[in-house]
Amino acid sequence: MIGTPCGILAYHRVAELEFDPQLLAVAPKHFAEQLQVLREAYRPMALQDWVANLKRGTLPRRAVVVTFDDGYADNLFNAKALLENYSVPATVFITAGRVGNSEEFWWDQLARVLLEPGDLPEEFDLDVGGTAMRIRLSEASQYTERDRVLHHSWNILRPDDPTPRHRVYRLLCQLFQAMDEEVRDVNIERMFSYAGYSRQARSTHRTLSALEVRDLAKGELVEVGAHTITHPVLANLSSEEQRAEIRSSKQMLEDMIGCRVLSFAYPYGTDTSYTADTVAIVREAGFGQACANFSGGVWRLTDRYQLPRNVVRDWSGEEFARWLDSWVLDRT
Ligand SMILES: [Zn+2]
Repeated sequence: MIGTPCGILAYHRVAELEFDPQLLAVAPKHFAEQLQVLREAYRPMALQDWVANLKRGTLPRRAVVVTFDDGYADNLFNAKALLENYSVPATVFITAGRVGNSEEFWWDQLARVLLEPGDLPEEFDLDVGGTAMRIRLSEASQYTERDRVLHHSWNILRPDDPTPRHRVYRLLCQLFQAMDEEVRDVNIERMFSYAGYSRQARSTHRTLSALEVRDLAKGELVEVGAHTITHPVLANLSSEEQRAEIRSSKQMLEDMIGCRVLSFAYPYGTDTSYTADTVAIVREAGFGQACANFSGGVWRLTDRYQLPRNVVRDWSGEEFARWLDSWVLDRT
């Protein structure tokens, strides 16, 4: 089959972070360089236009779409002005139940309590589905400023775990993702109280407020899309629960911005994090398209409710251009 040389890019954050274990942030300088590459060598399009062209079979060559997941405040404060500078449209998928929340996303809270300087007990128990799991930090119960500096470039894709805290962080990322939100929250609360931290979000890691979502949606360039209420693994929920997450996030965001919300992105977005049932619910809820999070190009017959996306990392413009060239094959 002949592929259309185009694709959807997945971003999360535009920010300068000292430590980014999930590799979610692109530095503002790099984001500007990437937008320049898109403007000069590609055809940046709004997601809805892009899908309309996909359906008609009229997608231009080198058409790309910029999307953001989750709803971090930096999407407004750092990304929007740059998108405007380069006239690149974007869709921002917002976790509706986290708008205006005083706490960080669970993965950021976990990184903060385990991989930022502080003390935790040498051993403690967590509640994993009703059974106690003993966490042993041993000599890593204290994590110093020196440790933070030493391991500042560590991330989840690295094969090594330089300290027991990194091993525990990796393990808990897997467990917490699948965990019921309330149980996960009890565990995070327990770890924060051991560490003596307040759970108030760090200014560098907070989510958008309702007012900021409205600001983000102002103008022609940014589309607000839905990303559920609580960011669950939808495949783990009953149909009823999925319906509530999906429909309510659409409704909440529509009430917030005063216009229709037509695009959706599955939390986590791998092919095991949602099911055929989920796709049907998204369609019935009135969305026109939905983005997944596995990589790939797009063909005319690609299911517009399971659009592949390609995750962008903190690359310079040059690295980004090379990466784009490697998968956006220039042939029709
Ligand atoms: Zn997400």
